[in-house]
Amino acid sequence: MADIYLYNSLSRQKELFAPLKAPDVGMYACGPTVYDYQHIGNMRRYVGDDTLKRVLALNGFKVKHVMNVTDVGHLTSDADTGEDKLEKSAAEKGKSAAEIARFFEEQFFSSTDALNVIRPDILCRATEHVSEQIELIKKIEENGFTYLTDDGVYFDTTKLKDYGRLAGGKEGIKPGVRVDIAGKKNPTDFALWKFSPKDSKRQMEWDSPWGTGFPGWHIECSAMSMKYLGETFDIHTGGVDHVAVHHTNEIAQSEAATGKAPVKYWVHYEFLQVDGAKMAKSLGNTYTVTDVEKKGFDPLALRYLFLSAHYRDSLNFTWESLQAAQNALEKLRSAVAALKDEKTRTALSSEKDAKTQTFREEFVKSVNDDINTASALAVVWQMLKSNIPSEDKYDLAIAFDEVLGLGLAKATVGKVEIPGKVQELLDKRNQLREQGKFEEADGVRKEIEEAGFVLEDSSQGTKIKPR
Ligand SMILES: [Zn+2]
Repeated sequence: MADIYLYNSLSRQKELFAPLKAPDVGMYACGPTVYDYQHIGNMRRYVGDDTLKRVLALNGFKVKHVMNVTDVGHLTSDADTGEDKLEKSAAEKGKSAAEIARFFEEQFFSSTDALNVIRPDILCRATEHVSEQIELIKKIEENGFTYLTDDGVYFDTTKLKDYGRLAGGKEGIKPGVRVDIAGKKNPTDFALWKFSPKDSKRQMEWDSPWGTGFPGWHIECSAMSMKYLGETFDIHTGGVDHVAVHHTNEIAQSEAATGKAPVKYWVHYEFLQVDGAKMAKSLGNTYTVTDVEKKGFDPLALRYLFLSAHYRDSLNFTWESLQAAQNALEKLRSAVAALKDEKTRTALSSEKDAKTQTFREEFVKSVNDDINTASALAVVWQMLKSNIPSEDKYDLAIAFDEVLGLGLAKATVGKVEIPGKVQELLDKRNQLREQGKFEEADGVRKEIEEAGFVLEDSSQGTKIKPR
């Protein structure tokens, strides 16, 4: 088993990955909130989780991937207004909050499926784990970390010795909610349980030892990760926006309950920018996978685009960059499809065999170095351009695709998309050749090449493929 290095947000350095009970790996990923469509910025995270999982599998680890679905509406889901988006959306649409949640959960999975993201082994919904959350809050209360306000049960962050160390200590942490809560002792304190507002028409509320209400957001991840992966597990992932509050508070809750650090490796994905700016509803740039498809792009071109950057680097999405990714993906697919048809492995030369092995090692080295997919893609292209036997090239491409998830095994020669203009030129050239006008046909061939395609004439006809 080769060494894997992962950047751990907790230690702020790359660490040699050593799970608690190899070859098993417990991995918890913060999932979607389901009161709206998930945009492509969110999708970058889930492709990130998927790639990480595939790299671990490539190295022989058995990953148990747990993901939550935040289907409880939180009064604080809008930090500025304190509005509950799920309940609000339900009221506006005349549906139940549960219906809204399930609808957006399905939307979420149709997006991740389109991106070849393997579904989690365990999907846990917050609404189906309320008793686990109440039990955990009771433990935290017994250990003396809570206090009661008119608003709910709060976690006293001053009671924990090193609260906020994930975010880099006191300077890094931010108060979770900007809405002032009466009776809250410290800005960073947060709700474990919220009481339903008086006379509220909340649909999602439960009885608890403290009063009718609903769990805070952070507690669901502590309760469910603990239930499915134990008090301490290997990997917890999320977006960089989760560091300062959500994950900081998850650590606080779990440590207050068990006295143990809940997670060995914290992995965080950087943001996706759009046209150089932050994605925001107000800017109209919160594109979804459906938007990408509507514009005629293959969703996997988006996956290719994500893979072309390191997950800890910010990535700028533009329609041009997506087009470039789609071109590269098509080129890759047609190269692999062409290899499938060729059986050119003839005389084995040990030199070429050694080269094949080197490409395999280079690829594994890249992905094992903190999931460096950009470098891994470069290895793929070098390999395809090399002089190793076609059959080896094909086998390697398919093996690498176990990590890349670009659907290369399904690539077929016929799937190469030929632009209309190029098809016209191709027809014209065929006609000229039939008429014996070879010189003119050669002229057309040059035009086709200028349009980015190459032709291969053989006794079976003419093959066209992207240059
Ligand atoms: Zn979470």
